[in-house]
Amino acid sequence: MFDSGGIVQAVAAVAYQLASLDRSVDDRTRIDLIRALEELKSSCAAAQVKATADLDASRRAAHAAAGVPPPQRGRGVGAEVALARRTSPYWGGRHLGLAKALVHEMPSTLALLESGVLSEWRATLLVRETACLSRADRAVADRELCADPDRLYGLGDKALIALVRSVVARIDVEAVVRRNSNAVTDRRVSVRPAPDTMSNLSALLPVRDGVAVYATLRRDADSVIAHGDKRTRSQIMADLLVRRVTGLDSPKAAPITVNLVVSDQSLLAGGTEPAHIPGFGPIPAAVARDWIATASDPESEEALLMRRIYANPATGAMTATESTARRFPAGLARWFEIRDRTCRTPYCGAPIRHNDHIEPHENGRATTAENGAGLCEACNHAKQAPGWTSRRVDSARGGLHRYVFTTPTGHRYRSTAPPLPRPLPVRIDYYRPVEKILVDFNAAA
Ligand SMILES: [Zn+2]
Repeated sequence: MFDSGGIVQAVAAVAYQLASLDRSVDDRTRIDLIRALEELKSSCAAAQVKATADLDASRRAAHAAAGVPPPQRGRGVGAEVALARRTSPYWGGRHLGLAKALVHEMPSTLALLESGVLSEWRATLLVRETACLSRADRAVADRELCADPDRLYGLGDKALIALVRSVVARIDVEAVVRRNSNAVTDRRVSVRPAPDTMSNLSALLPVRDGVAVYATLRRDADSVIAHGDKRTRSQIMADLLVRRVTGLDSPKAAPITVNLVVSDQSLLAGGTEPAHIPGFGPIPAAVARDWIATASDPESEEALLMRRIYANPATGAMTATESTARRFPAGLARWFEIRDRTCRTPYCGAPIRHNDHIEPHENGRATTAENGAGLCEACNHAKQAPGWTSRRVDSARGGLHRYVFTTPTGHRYRSTAPPLPRPLPVRIDYYRPVEKILVDFNAAA
């Protein structure tokens, strides 16, 4: 039970063997090998599932023994799993949920994962589609679907989902209705980059709302076309969406600010280093220049506000911003948004929601940019679980901001701020510490 390194070494030895497999085999053997490796991947997933569920149980027991209130027991486990699997806390939470469902409620499905009949993804589909059932009903569905491995033979993912849904609906039709009404709570709007400096803005809405928004845009676009507009219907619908949501059609709407971080070289000297929109990602330098030129035009409905950011020209580390350096903590949010861009937890990448003290405020540590980092909500939450500590690392002069944190198992992870866009190379006698320009890009006048 207390073998601390043996099983991990055994797994590493298997990985080593796989890396040096004999490749001079016939084609029949190659097909057999591909199948065997596929089954091994499923077995690995099953082993991870059991280790994850066991970690959760052990941590919950420890929290209970330490007097942690029930709702907070198990806090941070998903984040630890995410760090170990080199994935985001969102996926860490999903992996944890999958593990608990398989180990505690769906033993037949877990057995098929272990034997390689099901892949991790297909096991995830089974867990997801039965999540609306009670524990007892889920066990019935688990047996019915997975007790006989041949039941799922040859089914594609869509057919598998359809089969599970039909079984679920037969076991508890009420649960399906409940699930549909719960789905409304998942409504959301998100934005992510698309190729060619475009973005995908998507909204997950109840069907009535989604259809109503689309039908309204389409109807009004048709009326614009009827008045002789030469744009396509798709273009007009997209333009109408932007104008209405940003309030450009309403004179009373407050202006919306889009921040853009661009190096002086890209802005002034035709440089090619991409600019960066905090919370979104990079955009090409030429596009940023074009935006700024448009916004600087006095005829434009867009207004422009420049703010300089001071950065180390060699490393890109941020050292100060023009207007916030002496206004902590009010200016701290902007500071973290620009310096950290996204949550500082490795692999996370979620938008920053909290400005966190690296070393706790209660211990008398200062509220400064050096002792702070931007975190998303989930990571800030995980960090408050018992056994998590973090420590500032004094960066070399002008280096990027760094800190390390330790999880309850004693594993250490480091977090380094990304470099800002590279500034113009300047001769030292001309050097002034104004090397970065942040543009507050107002989308409305
Ligand atoms: Zn995070």
